[in-house]
Amino acid sequence: MKVSHAEMVISAVKPEQYPDDGLPEFALAGRSNVGKSSFINKMINRKSLARTSSKPGKTQTLNFYKIENQLFFVDVPGYGYAKVSKKEREAWGKMIEKYLTGRSVLQAVILIVDLRHPPTADDQMMYDFLKHYNIPAIVVATKADKIPRGKWDKHKKVVRETLEMEKGDPIILFSAETGVGVEETWTEIQKFM
Ligand code: GDP
Repeated sequence: MKVSHAEMVISAVKPEQYPDDGLPEFALAGRSNVGKSSFINKMINRKSLARTSSKPGKTQTLNFYKIENQLFFVDVPGYGYAKVSKKEREAWGKMIEKYLTGRSVLQAVILIVDLRHPPTADDQMMYDFLKHYNIPAIVVATKADKIPRGKWDKHKKVVRETLEMEKGDPIILFSAETGVGVEETWTEIQKFM
């Protein structure tokens, strides 16, 4: 998909603020600093609509990006940032859980992981959470440009095995630097539309 229109329509903290135009939604989840904002910007062909994080863990809102009047990307605050308090983590958990389990227009969660390293315990927890609630997961392993091409398959396998991914769930290699994986990710998204 060639994106020419994308805008952030709301930064929501509670369900009453979610958009009500019924468009399909795709949530983006990942640990802080994994490259989530860079992923969004690359997918929508913009330099900096989604803020790339100078302060990891800061955004405690759900940011709704409307794309081509066809769908929303919903940026979920990154997890696993050590410096947030227990109270903040709990508030994060409640907001995310409410959104992920109660949102009828949610089609799938795009779980962003770092191709360079095995998924973290938090990544595994997020994947298991999605499976538990029968929410389709599209796993995107980013920063592929940091790994030589010859090792991509090996790293991909580590991600798949560490997350104990279900056979049907796709895993896509991605790079916000080179654009590898952009088309493939759009193809997966469009299967839900
Ligand atoms: P977020 O906290 O998950 O939104 O992460 P950001 O998008 O802000 O990215 C965190 C850091 O990783 C930044 O320095 C980015 O430039 C870098 N980064 C993100 N994606 C890629 C990628 O695909 N390749 C490379 N080499 N660096 C990336």
